[in-house]
Amino acid sequence: NLKKHFPIKSSIPFKKSTQFVKAVDGVSFDLYKGETLGIVGESGCGKSTVARLINQLISPTEGVVEFKGTDLASLNTKDIRSARKSIQMVFQNPYASLDPRKTIEYLVAEPLVIHGIGDEASRKKRVIELLETVGLSAYHAKRHPHEFSGGQRQRINIARALALNPDIVVCDEPVSALDVSVQAQVINLLKDLQKEFGLTYIFISHDLNVVNYMCDRIAVMYLGKIVEIGTYKEIYENPQHPYTQALLSAIPKENPFDAKERIILSGDVPSPVNPPSGCAFHKRCRFAMEKCATMQPTLDTVTATHQVSCHLFEAIQQEVPTP
Ligand code: SF4
Ligand code: MG
Repeated sequence: NLKKHFPIKSSIPFKKSTQFVKAVDGVSFDLYKGETLGIVGESGCGKSTVARLINQLISPTEGVVEFKGTDLASLNTKDIRSARKSIQMVFQNPYASLDPRKTIEYLVAEPLVIHGIGDEASRKKRVIELLETVGLSAYHAKRHPHEFSGGQRQRINIARALALNPDIVVCDEPVSALDVSVQAQVINLLKDLQKEFGLTYIFISHDLNVVNYMCDRIAVMYLGKIVEIGTYKEIYENPQHPYTQALLSAIPKENPFDAKERIILSGDVPSPVNPPSGCAFHKRCRFAMEKCATMQPTLDTVTATHQVSCHLFEAIQQEVPTP
């Protein structure tokens, strides 16, 4: 039940804000060892905030993040450090996330220095090992970020994320800033590393094509909430939520004869300051019913692995006679 509500600065000096951006508003999910969980949705749906909450970069307004059964907020300083080592992050922008004044050796070794791991000689060795792991080499260690392409810089970021042998890597739009041809290389690298090191990924993206290729399970977010979650097969082949259906219909198909009607969403994503009442999607939903404007749907079970939050699904369920 994670929530993150950011206060909006009040326009009256010294007056406390009474308005909040509900960036994440009651999100629950499990993450299983070795899997890749995709989180998709339009920009502003709260997916990056979920990532930052999991990485303890910000703390939740409400709710908990449990790692191996322990609430991360309840840990003492020493255990927080070790939990931080276990959960690493790769950010979207490979240009902004590397300090241009530092060498690659410095940047990749930095997490080791922060956590007091090894001496200088052993860290140097480890950096070369990490660079080789991501397809670079010792030759690159003394260079600076501007000497690298976007794809190479994302490799450097990945090497940094791997330096502390994490269990979980949260990737926030890791390939969105890259050319399509380079995207595939970085995604394949992430897949190979997952196999090699038994990593668990949270993979955040607005691009369903990328998520389809990468993920075992997918959570679809809309205005701070998960509206549908399931295995990638369930989401792609049997999407239940009108929003998921619209997102999927926008993916270009390889065979144009397979293409279903493209569902155009009317209007913009509403503001998370005053989200619409009832189902937050009701103003853009082509199936909206009267109760959608007033009653918030709950996440209901489609299968053991598939859940959806929509009154339409409840209505279908009620029509099915119980045996
Ligand atoms: Fe559409 Fe209503 Fe379902 Fe919301 S609850 S997605 S408005 S049908
Ligand atoms: Mg984002």
